[in-house]
Amino acid sequence: MIIVLKKGCKKKTVEAVIKKVKELGFKAHAIVGVERTVIGAVGDDRDKHLLSALEAVPCVEKLVPILQPYKLASKEIRREPTVVKVDGACFGGGHFGVIAGPCSVETEKQIVETAIRVKKAGARMLRGGAFKPRTSPYAFQGLEEEGLKLLAAARKESGLPFVTEVINPEDVELVGDYADALQIGARNVQNFALLRRAGKFGKPIVLKRGMSTTIQEFLMSAEYVLSEGCKNVILCERGIRTFENATRNTLDISAVPVIHERSHLPIIIDPSHATGVRNYVPPLCFAAMACGADGIMVEVHPDPQKALCDGPQSLRIEDFAALVVQLRKLSKFNGKKM
Ligand code: PEP
Ligand code: MN
Repeated sequence: MIIVLKKGCKKKTVEAVIKKVKELGFKAHAIVGVERTVIGAVGDDRDKHLLSALEAVPCVEKLVPILQPYKLASKEIRREPTVVKVDGACFGGGHFGVIAGPCSVETEKQIVETAIRVKKAGARMLRGGAFKPRTSPYAFQGLEEEGLKLLAAARKESGLPFVTEVINPEDVELVGDYADALQIGARNVQNFALLRRAGKFGKPIVLKRGMSTTIQEFLMSAEYVLSEGCKNVILCERGIRTFENATRNTLDISAVPVIHERSHLPIIIDPSHATGVRNYVPPLCFAAMACGADGIMVEVHPDPQKALCDGPQSLRIEDFAALVVQLRKLSKFNGKKM
């Protein structure tokens, strides 16, 4: 339920309404808009009739039911786009954020060199996996905490904030203490325990769409995170499974306008995992920019042939630099800040 407050409500009044919502057994999420504050009351649907008691509160203008099953993620509760800021990197509301880095952290030299060079080329955030979700248990699983330390060293040297994946709910605090943003990968998009724990932690989250989740399911996963109090969620379309096998997955570019219609959250494109092929990455980044995406996340490696993971889809640093030059040109036509 959306509790719409009258214009110009004082902070104290807003707090009193929040208290009342909580007493009724719901979680209250205040959303401060340009004109007025609204409070999203979310909880067990079976008890929603209890909220009608709020209609009698003087500062409450009206109660509006949220029709979508995802509530806090929905446009119904917040019409303006959410801008997620991770240090200097901004996503949404006209900002096109660029995340670049290797699939996985391998050595100090590899991650520090990549960070410095992608920053120089125009990246705003570094990526790199320390905990890798691999299809084979015999494949490189990541450097784990050592990888997190190397990412922190790369941040120190380059000044770039970093996002890295967390796979287990028990590791959220460990990964979260090092990282600027937590990534929840495609394979974990419906790991509800992980979503809840990461949402509680509070740092921004890059949530990747699962290879077989519908947009509605994807937004429901975002809802898990938001319902725990995290406000900064970046959605990431990274390709879905189809019959097509010329690419690793099929990039669902239409997810961008669909999500923009339904949600205030930013949506970025990961063309590296979507295609699995380096040469297809730049054209799909241009498509992302053209269709209004809020950013990209691309895999970049100083020597892709030697990469321990996802080399064939990783751009060389020079390729990435050329890509950013082109994207900057396009951004002028699209009114995006890069
Ligand atoms: C990744 O970004 O490193 C990754 C494993 O991606 P996905 O979860 O989209 O497969
Ligand atoms: Mn990868």
